[in-house]
Amino acid sequence: MRIAMIGTGYVGLVSGACFADFGHEVVCVDKDAGKIDRLKQGVMPIWEPGLEALVKSNVERGRLNFTTNLAEGVDGAEAVFIAVGTPARRGDGHADLTFVFDAVKELAHALKGPAVVVTKSTVPVGTGDRITELFKKEGAPAGTSVASNPEFLREGAAIADFKHPDRIVVGAEDESARQVLREIYRPLFLNKAPILFTGRRTAELTKYAANAFLAVKISFINEIANLCEAVDADVQEVARGIGLDNRIGPKFLHPGPGYGGSCFPKDTLALLQTANAAGVEQRIVKTVVEVNDERKATMHERVLHALGGDLKGKRVAVLGVAFKPNTDDMRDAPSIPLVKGLQDQGATVAAFDPAAMGHAKDLMPEVEFTNDAYAAAKDADALVVVTEWDEFRAIDLERIARTMKGNVLVDLRNVYDRAEAEEAGFDYSGLGRGRIG
Ligand code: NAD
Repeated sequence: MRIAMIGTGYVGLVSGACFADFGHEVVCVDKDAGKIDRLKQGVMPIWEPGLEALVKSNVERGRLNFTTNLAEGVDGAEAVFIAVGTPARRGDGHADLTFVFDAVKELAHALKGPAVVVTKSTVPVGTGDRITELFKKEGAPAGTSVASNPEFLREGAAIADFKHPDRIVVGAEDESARQVLREIYRPLFLNKAPILFTGRRTAELTKYAANAFLAVKISFINEIANLCEAVDADVQEVARGIGLDNRIGPKFLHPGPGYGGSCFPKDTLALLQTANAAGVEQRIVKTVVEVNDERKATMHERVLHALGGDLKGKRVAVLGVAFKPNTDDMRDAPSIPLVKGLQDQGATVAAFDPAAMGHAKDLMPEVEFTNDAYAAAKDADALVVVTEWDEFRAIDLERIARTMKGNVLVDLRNVYDRAEAEEAGFDYSGLGRGRIG
């Protein structure tokens, strides 16, 4: 199958490389010439485990190509996936579909024959209908069909997620589109991945419902963690106690500094806008957005509290700035308001992250970025764990404590064992692990 992928970011590049690995012939298109140049030289524009090797082997086999020229990229393609960004529109939280519609307009003129055009980008209900209209208006070839195939991969585990998905959702309004997508994903459902065919609008909404539900789960355990701190209970054990119930499940029950990243914040807002336009209240999701915003905005207060109420002249070392481990993605990362809160209170901040410092530098002026965790901790009054990279789990707590001036450890991911941290000389506080203050 000949496939074109428009948008070569976290989703487009991973999806394109994986489709090529299934044996399809894939051209990835991006209007960012720098990105395409780097890819042609074998340099990955994003940090994603296993991606470089996967791209390299499929380029070598001649199944994966890159171009900035959309017309060239879609020439002869039976399926064209759209994987461009759909960020939150400034001010109102609507999904900004500018990139999608720009690509669709260009595509309408570039297609020489009918193709199945598939939105992989996360787009609000009804976007497929609007694309269909736009194709008609712009004179796309007759028989061009529009389908929805939302992507559920997680950055940091993107290739494994793409190749072993919990499910594949395909929303289509005609049999030919279903046929093409069934063929594309055949290697996966031969591996028993359930493929779910729905109407296009249902598929579009399914993606938002999934992300909103996960955001609910995260905020739920964060609030339970707060309660644990007030009543002297341990949220880790509560999470295990409820997560072993199959109806609940153990995942997404880890307290933290609030969800971030390129999806949950914008997708929850966009869902609320969809609901608003439909005149239907979504009180749970609305509250979750408020709970999460407040959590992110107040995390620095934990450091303030642990340092006795005054951050002026204090030095704080931050471990991890990416919104989660195994990615360089800084979009809506909880580290951003945390660092700002610390600086606003008069602290100086040093930080280390294994992958995200390049992106973080522009977002966090005045932060001193170091080459490793020990260098960040040197002479610090407090150490704050923000992103649970594996390498932080294996840190030598005694060694890092010796390099510091103070002994405060604020563990916003519950990475460390309290007893071990205290044995290393730390004054330890985690999230929801017994009474605070
Ligand atoms: P991204 O910003 O990393 O990549 C988007 C790419 O599209 C950029 O490289 C940009 O240059 C390119 N682009 C924009 N307009 C273009 C055009 N007209 N022609 C060619 N290229 C164009 O975004 P992403 O994180 O990959 O997300 C893409 C979509 O997938 C979003 O809708 C997002 O919500 C969704 N999604 C993301 C994830 C994730 O983990 N990142 C997971 C599931 C779904």
